[in-house]
Amino acid sequence: MNKGRILSLIGGIILIVAAFLPFSYFVDGLYSTFEITVAVLMNFTDNSVMQNFLLQVNPSYGMAAMILALIVAGFLLLTIGGLLAIIKKAGGSIAGPGGMVVLTIAGFLYAGALIFGFLGIGFYLGWLGAIICIIGGVISPDKDKSKINVSVNQQQNVTTNGAPMGSTQSTKNSTPEYITKYCNKCGYQNKADTSFCVNCGNRL
Ligand SMILES: [Zn+2]
Repeated sequence: MNKGRILSLIGGIILIVAAFLPFSYFVDGLYSTFEITVAVLMNFTDNSVMQNFLLQVNPSYGMAAMILALIVAGFLLLTIGGLLAIIKKAGGSIAGPGGMVVLTIAGFLYAGALIFGFLGIGFYLGWLGAIICIIGGVISPDKDKSKINVSVNQQQNVTTNGAPMGSTQSTKNSTPEYITKYCNKCGYQNKADTSFCVNCGNRL
């Protein structure tokens, strides 16, 4: 396993663990994003419970609903992003960090500048996992390969800049060992730059 793959795996596991650890003080105690998401989804159709919940989150229903929606979205991004990073699928290095951004915005909407007094271990672990996923995604082998290809292309462009013809012409010129002269006398295939046949000595 390469380093990027190992980092993605570790980052993904940390993201999922962080989603289930105490994330932030919320209404009346420290809760994980999982617990808040379950509370929101379980009571979603119960108007009286949801109204009470929204009022407890924030005096404004609209802002409270926004905060709850961001927490649910953040939880889903953390867990889905974590899984994508673990099984190495596209988006694994973006979804998890995206979830942490969403959850951090929710934290600021809820607590404002006081956010850092509200945070639990899940918040810090979540950002650690997100950063590890980003690094893992950046140094993954696919990206390394494309970077090498780009640099090779750039080198080719530099070397062919002087040639009047395009790069196809230069690749033909750069492979003289494939251009051969056939001997008139014995038919031996000689290199293009030889004056006499290697096989029979006939002048080419
Ligand atoms: Zn010959």
